[in-house]
Amino acid sequence: MALTRRAALFGAGAAVGVLGSRWMGPQNPSLDGVKVIMPAGEAKTLNDASLLSETPVFRHTVIQGAPDLAPSTWLFDALRKELAEAASENRPVNLSAARHSMGGQSIPRDGHAITLDMPAIFDVDSDTGTYRALAGTRWHQVIAALDPLGLSPKVMQSNADFGVASTFSVNAHGWPMPFGPMGSTVRSVQMMLADGSLITASRSENADLFGAAMGGYGLIGLITELEVEAVPNQLLEPTFQTMPASDFAAAFVKTADGSVPMAYGRLNIDREGFFDDAMLVTYRPIAGDIPPAAGSGFLSKASRAIFRAQPGNEWVKRRRWGIETGIGAWLAGASSRSSLMNEPVITLDDRDPTRTDILHEYFVSPDRFGDFVAAAKAIIPGSYQELLNITLRWVAEDPVSMLSYAPSGPRIASVLLFSQEMTARAEADMERMTRQMIDAVLAIGGSYYLPYRPHATVDQFRRCYGGAEEFAALKRRVDPGLRLRNALWDNYLAKV
Ligand SMILES: Cc1cc2nc3c(=O)[nH]c(=O)nc-3n(C[C@H](O)[C@H](O)[C@H](O)COP(=O)(O)OP(=O)(O)OC[C@H]3O[C@@H](n4cnc5c(N)ncnc54)[C@H](O)[C@@H]3O)c2cc1C
Repeated sequence: MALTRRAALFGAGAAVGVLGSRWMGPQNPSLDGVKVIMPAGEAKTLNDASLLSETPVFRHTVIQGAPDLAPSTWLFDALRKELAEAASENRPVNLSAARHSMGGQSIPRDGHAITLDMPAIFDVDSDTGTYRALAGTRWHQVIAALDPLGLSPKVMQSNADFGVASTFSVNAHGWPMPFGPMGSTVRSVQMMLADGSLITASRSENADLFGAAMGGYGLIGLITELEVEAVPNQLLEPTFQTMPASDFAAAFVKTADGSVPMAYGRLNIDREGFFDDAMLVTYRPIAGDIPPAAGSGFLSKASRAIFRAQPGNEWVKRRRWGIETGIGAWLAGASSRSSLMNEPVITLDDRDPTRTDILHEYFVSPDRFGDFVAAAKAIIPGSYQELLNITLRWVAEDPVSMLSYAPSGPRIASVLLFSQEMTARAEADMERMTRQMIDAVLAIGGSYYLPYRPHATVDQFRRCYGGAEEFAALKRRVDPGLRLRNALWDNYLAKV
């Protein structure tokens, strides 16, 4: 399709033509549509997606931009003001987007929490397949902007509510194949350091800060915009293959030859045959018109009801596996690449005030996947936790991020979704089980993911993340006052 070489887009995807100047918005931008909410000093707490991280903060500031308002120095001024005021009282600062992390990684204790909610996609370049996004832009806004131009995000999570800078800051991955984490698709970032200076970081400029900020949980700088790679959107058709779990890794390795643009796996979770069976779902390109990106499809919505009936119900768990590998596979039709990734988190919402959903994630090399399955079989069924789902993803090696979870060779990522009772007993049980899982995974050369519950011990963290000491030293150099802090720093990095 014919694309303008440089199209500029703001907000939820309205293409507004060829870009002449860098910013395209109102001729005389006013601050109308921008809200900086600063409740003055009143007692306040913030939580995250776990609902278990309630933490006191000094202030929560939401910086919002109207979709057609081009930010410039006023955004930098707002961030500098927070940094200066926090410094004068030695309080921490943390910048975030959707706060879907689960262990206070987005919350500065007694500090200045800032939420960035400014959507803007611009400088879409069809020749290089790149675009620029403001830090707080959510993935559904990226999809809406790229879709009319025939482009699609290269790597993002499996849900579209998260911020683009947050995704870089946790170095998230998804099910596009055969790429590394999202950071591998970022060319450069613009970032404000704790002293208020603005820098650009890339693989060739301030490369050490780029590697530290990728998966650096906002501890290196406040990211304001990113240059990110896109790929052509495609019409894709799924193929479903079931197999013994022991055959899964070899089958997944075969799909990572570049011919399959999207793929994921599943394991069965009913207690009788726990993790014995696997399903590999591969999406391959087919000819045909690509429909506009849609949101959650009928199948996602229908499967929610079955999904949520699982806790305490082995019959439903067994039936669900049958449905997923049977009629579900039969019903699933062609879809665009962007539609597949345009899933809101709310589709999965549990709507039960006594329980909360908790994710775990482990990364092991394909040749140790059998050992991972054996460890999970020995540990998970003995806990009190209700496992709702396990999804398997491919993650290529990531040699750039200082806190890389795939530092040497590709990994199979196992994403486990638990439903946890919101009680002290359940929390203690979850901590015990998580530590057992981490020990088992470290013993086979694997790693665990950092945006979830802070149940790992400091020793486990240190053993898992070999670059942690270097990261902490670099952070102390660029942020000697330790202005940028959150629970990941307080619980782990401050102690390595
Ligand atoms: C339902 C669900 C599904 C998920 N699926 C996946 C998945 O498929 N793959 C995967 O890898 N992960 C997945 N995750 C984890 C998810 O990627 C992270 O929790 C991610 O941080 C969520 O984005 P967010 O906007 O909510 O980030 P936040 O929680 O707001 O922030 C996360 C971190 O990024 C930092 N940060 C945010 N913005 C900036 C900025 N502008 N500058 C500097 N630092 C910043 C914050 O300080 C914080 O440390 C999932 C989580 C949930 C709850």
